[in-house]
Amino acid sequence: MAKVELKGVGKVYDGAVRAVDNANIVIEDKEFAVFVGPSGCGKSTTLRMIAGLEEITEGEVLIDGELVNDMPPKDRNIAMVFQNYALYPHMTVYENMAFGLRIKKIPKDEIDRRVQEAARILDIGKFLERKPKALSGGQRQRVAVGRAIVRHPKVFLFDEPLSNLDAKLRVQMRAEISSLHHRLDATMIYVTHDQVEAMTMADKIVGYKDGKIQQIGSPLRLYNYPGNKFVAGFIGSPPMNFLTVTVTEEGGHIALDEGSFKLNVFAEHESALKEYDGKEVYLGIRPEDLLFNEDNGAASGIPLSVSVVEPLGADTTLWLNTTTQSIVARTEPTRLFKVGDSVNFVPRMEKARYFDKETELAILPTPA
Ligand code: ADP
Repeated sequence: MAKVELKGVGKVYDGAVRAVDNANIVIEDKEFAVFVGPSGCGKSTTLRMIAGLEEITEGEVLIDGELVNDMPPKDRNIAMVFQNYALYPHMTVYENMAFGLRIKKIPKDEIDRRVQEAARILDIGKFLERKPKALSGGQRQRVAVGRAIVRHPKVFLFDEPLSNLDAKLRVQMRAEISSLHHRLDATMIYVTHDQVEAMTMADKIVGYKDGKIQQIGSPLRLYNYPGNKFVAGFIGSPPMNFLTVTVTEEGGHIALDEGSFKLNVFAEHESALKEYDGKEVYLGIRPEDLLFNEDNGAASGIPLSVSVVEPLGADTTLWLNTTTQSIVARTEPTRLFKVGDSVNFVPRMEKARYFDKETELAILPTPA
C-alpha cells in the first residue's frame, strides 16, 4: 500500500516566491500520476516536498495515511530518479546500484540479489562492470532507475527523467517506464513539461499553471473535457483552436457569429450557452474535429484560406485563416492542398467546447 495525499500544500521560497498554492491531490496505491505544466509552474517543488527534499510551508503530505511533513527523506521509503541521473562516475554500474543499500547495512547477498533482479528487469546485466562514462544516455538513465528499484520503495518519484535524451530515445524510455510501472505494480509520480508524456503514461494527470493546480483527471478526461482554456490549449498537439464568436439566439436556436460566418450549436449545448446570448465566448475545436467539406460554399461550414501546408506522412497539418482569425486542421494525407486555396471545413459541433471570455472556465457542464 502506498497512497500519497496532499492537503492544502503550499510552498513559499525565502518568504517571497510562491511556488505552489493550495495543492490538493490524492494519488492512489499503484497509480501512475503525472504532474504536467510549463516550466516554473511548481511541479518539481511539489515532488520535492513529497520526497522531503524541500520544506513544506503550508498543508499536509501523507503517505499511507501517515503525516510525513517532518519525516526525514530517508525514512519516507521513497526513491527519486532525477533528470541528470546523478550517478557516481568512479563507481561501476553494479556499485552505483548497490551503494545506497550498503549505506543501509543490508546484507551482501541480499544486495546482490536485488541488483541482479533490477539488472534483469532493466536489461542492463551486461553493463554491470562498466563505469557510467562507458554508457549511452539511455543506459545511464536505466541505471538511475535501477538504483531506485533496488531500494524497493513504496513510491517512485521521477523528475523530468527523459529531458536529456534525444527524441527517439525518449519515446523508447517512455514506453519502458510505463511497462516498468505495470511490472513493479508500484505507485509512481512523474514530473514533466511534455504533455505527450503526460497523455501516454499517466493514469492520472495533475495539470499545473503558475503554482496552481488547474485540473486533475485521466488523460482522456482532460483531453475531452478540459476544465478551462489553459488545459484545453496545453493538452493536445497541435493544440485546440480557439475562435472568438458571439452567441446569438435566432428563431429559438443558439448560433455562433464569427463575423465572416455563422455556425449552429449542437442541440445539447444550447441550454448552457443561452445565458451568453449577445456575448462573446471562445469556441474551442480540436484540429481533428474540423472536417474538409467537399461541397465548398455550403452554409454549414467555415470558409477559410490555406496559409501553410505541413505534410507529416500519416496526416497533414493545415494552417487556415478566416478573415480575421487563424486555426489549424488535421487532414488526411491523400488530399493535396496548396497555399492560397479557398476551402471550407465543417466542425464536429458535438465535440465543440466553450470557454468564458472573462474567467476562461469551461461553459459546458462536465459529465459525471
Ligand atoms: P517546475 O518544476 O514546474 O519547472 P519549480 O517547482 O522548479 O517549477 O519552480 C516553481 C517556482 O519556484 C519557479 O518560479 C522557480 O523559479 C521557483 N523556485 C524553485 N526553486 C527555488 C528556490 N530554491 N528558491 C527560490 N525559488 C525557487
